[in-house]
Amino acid sequence: MSYELFDLEISPYKPAKEHCFNEEASLFFNGETSHLVRDRLNESLDTVFQSLSERNTPFSGKHHNELWELIKNIDLSKPQQCFQSTLDELKTLYLNDTFLFHDQQYLAHLNCPVFITAIAAELISTCLNTAVETWDQSAGATHIEQMLINRFTKHIGFETEADGVFTSGGTQSNLMGLLFARDSICFKINQWNVKQNGLPSYANRLRILTSEHSHYSIQKSAALLGLGKNSVVSIKTDSQFKISTKELKQTIKKLEHQGLIPFAVIATAGTTDFGSIDPISTIAQICDKHNLWLHVDAAYGGALLLSKKYKHWLAGIEHANSVGIDFHKTFFQPVACSAFFLKDKNNFKFISHHASYLNPLLDEIEGIPNLATKSLQTTRRFDALKLWLSLRHLGEEVIGTALENLIHLIRRAYLLFSSESRIDVITPPQLTTLVFRFLPQDASLTLEELNNINRGIRQTLYESGKTLVASTAIDCHQYLKITLLNPLTTLQDLQDALITIVKTGNSIHQSHILNRSRL
Ligand SMILES: *Cc1c(COP(=O)(O)O)cnc(C)c1O
Repeated sequence: MSYELFDLEISPYKPAKEHCFNEEASLFFNGETSHLVRDRLNESLDTVFQSLSERNTPFSGKHHNELWELIKNIDLSKPQQCFQSTLDELKTLYLNDTFLFHDQQYLAHLNCPVFITAIAAELISTCLNTAVETWDQSAGATHIEQMLINRFTKHIGFETEADGVFTSGGTQSNLMGLLFARDSICFKINQWNVKQNGLPSYANRLRILTSEHSHYSIQKSAALLGLGKNSVVSIKTDSQFKISTKELKQTIKKLEHQGLIPFAVIATAGTTDFGSIDPISTIAQICDKHNLWLHVDAAYGGALLLSKKYKHWLAGIEHANSVGIDFHKTFFQPVACSAFFLKDKNNFKFISHHASYLNPLLDEIEGIPNLATKSLQTTRRFDALKLWLSLRHLGEEVIGTALENLIHLIRRAYLLFSSESRIDVITPPQLTTLVFRFLPQDASLTLEELNNINRGIRQTLYESGKTLVASTAIDCHQYLKITLLNPLTTLQDLQDALITIVKTGNSIHQSHILNRSRL
């Protein structure tokens, strides 16, 4: 054998001497490095807990420029001497400032505290670096994901032809729902094969219907699918921010009359802002009558499936053609953990591709399960393991009950906030959000000033880092929003938050008045 061809140097690669590590063997996870892995993990966890012990707010309040100044001056060409210094550096660059979703004053977005069991699962699958795209890279992991998919297709109420796959989130699930809807309508209309031939001549007449408060990823998906954002027709909602089915019916007729082709309806089971759940049963009947694909975006409300008390809010979901559920929201799983479900698994043919190195057709014929055939992704983390370990160790009821408690807490928060004269709550809550604004009794305030005060409240709270709320705008009116996803949050926490919000609102209002009198 001649090695000349490769100009090989026989001496193996050695990491630079000055580094803490001095053996290549000590760099990698393997059966021999147990003590090193434990040491690194302990040091990492100690650093995290040390940083947490020095903090008492969900956010430090630092401006992004301030952190960028620190981070941009790191010289990536010069590695740190030892691991502990690397961790100490990370403390100042990230840990000391980052958002703490487990803090009871974190009330802003749909981020959840995570089950400790799920962290253990993350650790296990990361050590082994399992990738679930094919059986020959994952073994039992493929079956574990499939078991969870089967379990949730049952919870949804789908029959045996159903199937699904884990996704990166509700965004990808919405994209998949619309992709299958598009390809199946094209096939129905003239046996058009989009996968093979691209979009048909009538593509610009295809229309998607969804509520004006559905997730922005629907517009984004329409754009990515070549249908354009204009293909998405927004349907008005009622006073509870649920889609108006009357309006939906009328719009379908109107579009058909105009020679357009409505082909899909996206119902939202828990809108991001209001937690409102569209009337799925009625929508399903309309879809059935007009032959429309129904996708239910249950990214937020999916865990209702595990609640005995409120599962009926999702009634009709079993009639959907596809469903998306985010486990990284109401199931208390670390990001990312999410899944997409199809009522009829035959539709997966619209995205299936066979690569000879990965998931050859022969595998399929022999019955070897390769999940890549159902996924938009190739290399994919074993995200199912966190949900699996959580369910095996804690059970489904823990999740359902936690969500029920949060729903009950937001109702009490609604009563509390509504009883404050300077707070205007837009509507009673449904899932776990409350949308409201600071509204002082001051007839001289213009809408713009009022909006500025509410924007100012959110900004001031962020800068203090103490209580974090989100904001949203409805018909040019600026609102604030709290989202509950932390089962440890108490009514007292919300009372504290309310006091802070009103106090901040008052002081911004006063300074507005002062500024005005100076002009
Ligand atoms: C969060 C959310 C999404 C997006 O999900 P990601 O996991 O962030 O991609 C979609 N729809 C609704 C209703 C959501 O609340």
